[in-house]
Amino acid sequence: MTLIPIIRTKSALGAQRNAWAADGASIALVPTMGALHEGHLTLVREARRYVGPQGRVIVSIFVNPAQFAPHEDFDHYPRDLAADAAKLETSGGADFIYAPDASEIYPDGFAARIHIDGPASGLESEARPHFFSGVATVVAKLFLQVKPGCAFFGEKDYQQLLVVKQLVRDLDLGIEIVGVPIVREADGLALSSRNAYLSAHDRQIAGTLNRVLQGTATMVRKGTPIERAEHEAASILKQSGFSRVDYVAIRDAETLEPVKNLDRPARILAASVVGRTRLIDNMPV
Ligand code: AMP
Repeated sequence: MTLIPIIRTKSALGAQRNAWAADGASIALVPTMGALHEGHLTLVREARRYVGPQGRVIVSIFVNPAQFAPHEDFDHYPRDLAADAAKLETSGGADFIYAPDASEIYPDGFAARIHIDGPASGLESEARPHFFSGVATVVAKLFLQVKPGCAFFGEKDYQQLLVVKQLVRDLDLGIEIVGVPIVREADGLALSSRNAYLSAHDRQIAGTLNRVLQGTATMVRKGTPIERAEHEAASILKQSGFSRVDYVAIRDAETLEPVKNLDRPARILAASVVGRTRLIDNMPV
């Protein structure tokens, strides 16, 4: 089996990309940190569907140091490029992997950092204050190196999706950002590369997160006041075995600003810790 090509440098990437652009192909980018699962592969299939058989799909795999705090799992984050390449080969749909060495993204002396307010404020930023500037910086770098016409992001990281849309809008990057619904396990747990950290016991508990969010969304739709529903959800999560609840919040689905009632599209978002794993999830209300 011939494996999908892996490109490691921005010069090789640029040469390939320019050859395709000269042929008039639409180019889609699917940015990932690897440890690929069915959620990522769904993004790749959506990208393929979107650009059609004549288009080109590039999957980037880069574990971005700028979005990890010193105490987070950068060193232990699962990395297996050969397994990722094999998955992309069998799932089909991608033309090559761009897996840059860190020096291609952050050469010596690199000092830029993109800061975003608006949708980046609050929620994830409370527990991870540098996270979205790390994400925005690497996504901008990848966009400028790959120069795609469109890029695919999962609703799994809903706040991140809105931050990336804001980045593209504010900096006139001219890239269409496509959000893809969350892919879940049979019990509703959102697929995540970090689910690999869950013990069998934690895995049971993890499955309750989406059910609690679903139940909370239903209660709010039936008239329970939003703030009360958020508090109740947090205490149910604690009773279910989560050791910490960073937030359960019902927010405006476009801006992530707090809402008092359901007079516009809203989203429930949560982050909670079980064992040593921090899980996030969200869904429409
Ligand atoms: P990551 O490798 O975790 O940075 O994720 C790369 C991309 O895949 C991001 O746009 C994620 O939102 C998306 N993604 C991760 N898990 C899922 C999932 N379960 N369903 C849909 N998209 C996902």
